[in-house]
Amino acid sequence: SQIMSRGLPKQKPIEGVKQVIVVASGKGGVGKSTTAVNLALALAANDSSKAVGLLDVDVYGPSIPKMMNLKGNPELSQSNLMRPLLNYGIACMSMGFLVEETAPLVWRGLMVMSAIEKLLRQVDWGQLDYLVVDMPPGTGDVQLSVSQNIPISGAVIVSTPQDIALMDAHKGAEMFRKVHVPVLGLVQNMSVFQCPKCKHKTHIFGADGARRLARTLDLDILGDIPLHLNIREASDTGQPIVFSQPESDEMTPPLWQKGRG
Ligand code: ADP
Repeated sequence: SQIMSRGLPKQKPIEGVKQVIVVASGKGGVGKSTTAVNLALALAANDSSKAVGLLDVDVYGPSIPKMMNLKGNPELSQSNLMRPLLNYGIACMSMGFLVEETAPLVWRGLMVMSAIEKLLRQVDWGQLDYLVVDMPPGTGDVQLSVSQNIPISGAVIVSTPQDIALMDAHKGAEMFRKVHVPVLGLVQNMSVFQCPKCKHKTHIFGADGARRLARTLDLDILGDIPLHLNIREASDTGQPIVFSQPESDEMTPPLWQKGRG
């Protein structure tokens, strides 16, 4: 791509931020933003001494404002940096705060790149232990540019068990490996739906495709998340599931069940 041919830009840390974790997916609509939001909340809930931020660089379809129940324009600090908006103890920044919710994001090329540059460099995060970055879906210039501009501690890749999603997730993993970003593992989302009435389980998108991919790529499965009404409602009402129902045992298999694929 163009960015590659211009040579590798120098990586510069985001000021005040210790660790950056990107959440990526090959395809859209597989639950990448849902995972990013709940990962941020889980990191904060796990250890209350940790400061956590959430950065939405999904410039074409920012979901963080809605999922975190936030809107408004960021204030500027004295040094002219944008101040993140805060909810549930998480500092959030999103393209969605900078443009009207209903405005079509029809920018291309340079416009998107300058938006990314703003989101990466012109935010006053204060001190953060973790910054969770919600990437756009796919493996285009934005993903590459983010990966090359800032040091990333690791990438979490989200996929449904469906072949078409897995193929794209595979490409995503390869891209991160090429730019030397460690892939922390895969999250398999929407793997099973349990009928609330008869308790019958249906594997709508297939049963364990992400596990197979994890084996192929020698990666961990970080979580296996069922397709569940509560998760969708929690996202839509801006009360993420990790915040609103942290101990729900309906969410079987467990949300963060670790293990080899
Ligand atoms: P992406 O970021 O990959 O485009 P989202 O996180 O925005 O995907 O999820 C797409 C839609 O699916 C959202 O409406 C979200 O609430 C819903 N969703 C995601 N994961 C689940 C799940 N495990 N169960 C139910 N709904 C889900």
